[in-house]
Amino acid sequence: MIDDMAGTDSAPRAAAAPLRVAVIGAGPAGLYAAEALTGQDQVPVTVDLVDRLPTPFGLVRYGIAPDHPKLRALRDTLHRTLEHPGVRFIGNVDVGVDLSLEELRQHVDAVIYTYGASGDRKLEVDGELLRGSLAATEFVGWYCGHPDADRAVVEEAVARARSVVVVGVGNVALDVARVLARGRAELESTEMPQHVVDALAASPVEEVTVLGRRGPAQATFTTQELRELGGMPGVTVLVDPSDLELDAASEARVGADRLVARNLAVLRGWAEHEPVPGEIRLTLRFHRRPVRLLGEDWVSGLEVERTLLDGDGRGVGTGELSTLPADLVVRSVGYLGRPLPGLPVDEQSGTVAHTGGRVLRDGAVAPGEYVAGWIKRGPTGVVGTNKHDARETVTSLLDDARAGALRPSDHADDLVRTLAARGAEPVLLADWRAIDAAEVALGATQGRDRTTLHERETLLAAVRAAAQHSPGRAGPSPGSGGTRQRSAHLQAEGRDDLGVPVHEVVGGADDAQTTGAQPLGDEQ
Ligand code: NAP
Repeated sequence: MIDDMAGTDSAPRAAAAPLRVAVIGAGPAGLYAAEALTGQDQVPVTVDLVDRLPTPFGLVRYGIAPDHPKLRALRDTLHRTLEHPGVRFIGNVDVGVDLSLEELRQHVDAVIYTYGASGDRKLEVDGELLRGSLAATEFVGWYCGHPDADRAVVEEAVARARSVVVVGVGNVALDVARVLARGRAELESTEMPQHVVDALAASPVEEVTVLGRRGPAQATFTTQELRELGGMPGVTVLVDPSDLELDAASEARVGADRLVARNLAVLRGWAEHEPVPGEIRLTLRFHRRPVRLLGEDWVSGLEVERTLLDGDGRGVGTGELSTLPADLVVRSVGYLGRPLPGLPVDEQSGTVAHTGGRVLRDGAVAPGEYVAGWIKRGPTGVVGTNKHDARETVTSLLDDARAGALRPSDHADDLVRTLAARGAEPVLLADWRAIDAAEVALGATQGRDRTTLHERETLLAAVRAAAQHSPGRAGPSPGSGGTRQRSAHLQAEGRDDLGVPVHEVVGGADDAQTTGAQPLGDEQ
C-alpha cells in the first residue's frame, strides 16, 4: 500500500505492488525521468519507457550532430538507465496511433510526457515552402539518419546547394552550417549513414551565410560551438565589422554576460578575415530579418530587411532591403512541440501547461499526468538541463504517491501484451541491443565505430535477424502481430517474456540495497 511507504510503517515493503509509470519519449528527458523514478528508495516503481521509434535516446541520437562524437557519447551514460531492472524500453510504439492515450492509461498508474519538440517553427514569410527551402528539423533528421527523413527532398537540395542561407543564430543553425561546410575526410569518421556522407561530400557548397535578425549580442549560440566554425579545414569564416557595432543596450549585455562577451571576442577575431580563393566562405550576418524567399520553381534568394534594436531588444525593420543569393535556405528558427491526441498542447508555445511538472487541464491539476523536457518548458537548454527538469517532475509524482493521490491499481493487462495482440511490433531492450550490434557491425565494414541504420524497416530487420539466430526468441515480423517468444534471452537479464522485470518492485526501502538505488535528492 502506498500509505505504508511514507516511512512510518516498518512492515515489509517488497510485497507492495509497484506504481506503474509510463514515460512517453525515450530521449534525455524520458531517460532522466526514468532514472529519477528508479533511483529513489521511497516509492516502489516500475517504468515503461515508450518511444515511437525503434531506438532510444531521442535527440542524443537524432539531434546532436554526428561530428560531435563526445556529446553523442552521452548515450553510454543514458544506456545505464535502459538496463535498470525497473525500466522496460518499449520502442516502435506510437501513442495516439498504436494505442490511444486513454488506452495507455488503463495499463499504468501515471504517465510522464517527455516526447520533446520535433516540429519546426515557421518564418511566416512568402516563399517559405518553395523547393530548396528546408526546415532545420528536416536537414538535421536527414544527416542523423532519422527514419522519417525525406531523403529525396533533402538530397536534391544538398546536390544543388552552391549558396546556402541558414536563418537563425542558435546552436542548431551553427550545426547546420558546419555540417554543410565539412569535407569528406571529416565526415567519414562520423556515424552518419554512408549516403549522407556521400551526398554532403559531393555537394557544391561555396558559401554559407548564417543570418541573425538581431545583433551579435542577442545571438543564442554558445561560444564553443561558435569557435568551432573557425577550425574547419578549407573554410574561411567572415564577419562584416559593421555588423558588430553595438548599441548601448548591447554593450551593457556584453558587460553583464560573459557568454555574450566571449561570443563577441570570437566574432571580432574574424572581422578582419578576407575570402580565401578556393575555400568555402562561411559568413555570419546580423541585423537582417527575412522578408521573403525568392524564386519560381526553386529558391533563388532571400530578401532581407536591415533591422535596428528597439528599447525592448526587438529587431525592428528599417525599410532597407537587400537580397542574399541562395539555392538552399535552411530555416533554423526553433523547434515546436507537436500535438499528441488527448493531451492539451498549446499550439502557440508547443508546450503543455503544468505546475511543477503536474499537467494542468483547464487550469486544474490532472491526476496521474506529468510532463518533463522540451514539451514542458520549450526547446531550450543543453541536454543536461533535462536532468534537473525531469527531477522536478518526478519529485512532484513521488510526492503525490506519498500523499496517497497516486496509488497502484490492478490493470487489465500488460502493455506489451496488449500491443502485441493488436498487431503492433514493440521493440524491447534485447531488440535494441540487436540494432546496436548491427550498427557497430556495419560501421566495422566501413572502418568506423558505427554507422547509423536509417530506415525503420532496416532497424526492424536487424531485430528479426538477431531473433532468428537466438533460440527461443523471435523478433517482430511484418504483420505478425509482434507475438514473440524471447524467454531465454530475457530471462538471462531478469525479465520475463514481455520484458517485464522479474523483480518488479524497485524503489521500496527493502530493495534499495540490492538495486543500488539512491535517494532522489542525491546528484549522481
Ligand atoms: P534557439 O537557440 O532558440 O535559436 C533560434 C534562432 O532562431 C534565434 O537566433 C532566433 O532569433 C531565431 N529566430 C526565431 N524566429 C525567427 C524569425 N522569424 N526570423 C529570423 N530568426 C528567427 O534554438 P535552436 O538553435 O533551435 O536550439 C534549440 C536548443 O538546443 C537550444 O537550447 C540550443 O542551445 C540547444 N542545442 C545545443 C547544441 C550544443 O550544445 N552543441 C546543439 C544544438 C542545439 P531571436 O533570438 O531573435 O528570436
